[in-house]
Amino acid sequence: MKRIVITGAAGFLGSHLTRRLLEQNHHVIGIDVLSTGLISNLHQELTHPNFEFLLMDISNDVSEELEKIGHVDEIYHLASPASPKFYQNDPIGTMRVNTLGTQNMLELAKAKKAKMLYTSTSEAYGDPEVHPQPEEYRGNVNTWGPRACYDEAKRLGEVYCYEYHKRYGVEVKVARIFNTYSAGLRNDDGRVISNFVSQAIRGEDLTVYGDGTQTRSFCYVDDNIRGLQMMMESDLATGEIINIGNPKEYQIIEVAQLIKKLANTDSNITFHQLPVDDPKVRRPNIEKAKRLLNWEPIIELEEGLLRTIDAYRAKHEADMKQNVV
Ligand code: NAD
Ligand code: UDP
Repeated sequence: MKRIVITGAAGFLGSHLTRRLLEQNHHVIGIDVLSTGLISNLHQELTHPNFEFLLMDISNDVSEELEKIGHVDEIYHLASPASPKFYQNDPIGTMRVNTLGTQNMLELAKAKKAKMLYTSTSEAYGDPEVHPQPEEYRGNVNTWGPRACYDEAKRLGEVYCYEYHKRYGVEVKVARIFNTYSAGLRNDDGRVISNFVSQAIRGEDLTVYGDGTQTRSFCYVDDNIRGLQMMMESDLATGEIINIGNPKEYQIIEVAQLIKKLANTDSNITFHQLPVDDPKVRRPNIEKAKRLLNWEPIIELEEGLLRTIDAYRAKHEADMKQNVV
């Protein structure tokens, strides 16, 4: 049984990872400040004998509290808003958690001689001019715009990881995660799959931003979590940046049409203003993940969306029964 710290444990990916690691009989110490995360994401885990929850803002000096948690084998550092809606609502907090928070977690890894995985993002490539994006592409990020707080903070977070690895030998790995989805995203998360699925099951219009020709590549959460675990476990990934995403690329309008069809809804598709600096294309080159980890996603978008729609529908119906919608 390993003792594993997860920051951002009450968030979308953090709660899925927590569940997976508890199923594998590890001891999990979940840390979260509950800014974008919801304690209800962990409602079953909170009473699990191998789970501890610490309500903590990891951007602050929390070294004394962290010292008390005893031995740690691995740290998954996921804390950070990820939806543009949320990170643009709290740009300073987003910068702090990815820089100061990352340094605090690296200090913990150094003190406890633990391995650490930092979740960076495809946003490190900005509005890419190289397509698909390999890890060595240096990106095209606007440093003076509404996405900069996230993109630049993640890039600096990566540099912290690089320096702690080179200077102090911390066994750190950086996953650049591409758009990941499933049930468990908040209905008001604002990201595209959460929006379209919530809209479709309520019979509301599906809100496409711009003309919908911009592209993204969507990875189902199970594939993502498997990739993160394989990275953590592989020595080959130490000191490396690796893309974790699904290389199948879709236009946003195609995703809207697919969700409309799979949810069997009468919703219309409406067009709205494209957000500033919205990347025009995004698709991972995953050759490095295949080579070093023997990892690649296996769940097709249609299958993942059907599971997501079913789960959102079940939750919607339960909420309706309780009259809380
Ligand atoms: P999320 O917003 O659902 O979860 C983030 C969690 O971090 C939340 O529970 C939030 O309360 C917590 N948190 C934020 N600031 C904190 C702080 N200062 N101290 C403690 N906890 C804090 O986001 P997610 O989709 O689960 O993303 C998890 C990580 O993966 C993020 O670092 C994100 O940048 C990265 N990522 C996710 C995706 C994706 O598609 N989901 C894509 C790229 C990168
Ligand atoms: N998008 C959309 N309608 C929505 C939400 C998002 O058309 O209701 C678009 C958004 O403009 C972007 C893509 O979908 O082009 C993915 O957006 P998301 O916020 O999920 O993540 P991003 O990849 O931009 O960080």
